[in-house]
Amino acid sequence: MQSSGHRFRDIEHHPLLAENDSYDSSSSEADMADRVWFIRDGCGMVCAVMTWFLVVYADFVVTFVMLLPSKDFWYSVINGVLFNCLAVLALSSHLRTMLTDPGAVPKGNATKEYMESLQLKPGEVIYKCPKCCSIKPERAHHCSICKRCIRKMDHHCPWVNNCVGEKNQRFFVLFTMYIALISAHALILCGFQFFSCVRGQWTECSDFSPPVTVILMVFLCLEGFLFLTFTAVMFGTQIHSICNDETEIERLKSEKPTWERRLRWEGMKSVFGGQPSLLWINPFAGFRIRQLLLRAKKGGPEFSV
Ligand SMILES: [Zn+2]
Ligand SMILES: [Zn+2]
Repeated sequence: MQSSGHRFRDIEHHPLLAENDSYDSSSSEADMADRVWFIRDGCGMVCAVMTWFLVVYADFVVTFVMLLPSKDFWYSVINGVLFNCLAVLALSSHLRTMLTDPGAVPKGNATKEYMESLQLKPGEVIYKCPKCCSIKPERAHHCSICKRCIRKMDHHCPWVNNCVGEKNQRFFVLFTMYIALISAHALILCGFQFFSCVRGQWTECSDFSPPVTVILMVFLCLEGFLFLTFTAVMFGTQIHSICNDETEIERLKSEKPTWERRLRWEGMKSVFGGQPSLLWINPFAGFRIRQLLLRAKKGGPEFSV
């Protein structure tokens, strides 16, 4: 169904609001919104596990190869605490991006009864997705991996094994930011370590043998450099998209905006929630463990099949 005559207006969503604010209030959809979100995609799961492995590897090298053998107590403590806090924030942002419903439109809601309940005026046209048989809100796109239409879909990211959309974009932005920060921190620490090892005795600058130390640190430098480049570019692109109120798909398709654009700070506020505050960089904001446990108990994970 294609028309430019009428646009089905989507109810305003906010990432920090309750997650069961689906625009359709039928019981089956309310049930779906109450379940934990997880995409069962082999490639995505491998990439997500690899991300965790690489962060844990970096943490191991920073802590056990560089900081613990260091003779400067405060240098080790301050850098150790900082690096581990950033690593925890990065992994928490990763989990929240992966396990948060990105804004999926209920599957198969384009039923006759539902269409009738919308009480459309004559001539009004709404969009229907032929793949998941759902009514497609404005700016929603179908993801072939999630097998769902996703509101304000930006792209599907295998590293977080999920789509980046209306409801989880802020966690994805935080994930790229914290990974870029720990990568930069690891590279700086590697630089200091090489400097102190070259100046002093290689056998004294680490508890590991010099060849093992060099191999571990070279891998960490490569990892840090690749991840810093990739996530810094991604972070910049995401902030640019948010400030222009345009998703990656809309940018690639050069779609003319038919929606009311929220530019710059308005765009940032709509994605991160409210006025600028420390909550913006907190991946735990809006997280309720009790609610999650209740959901897991009630319906188990909602797998994409
Ligand atoms: Zn669809
Ligand atoms: Zn997807």
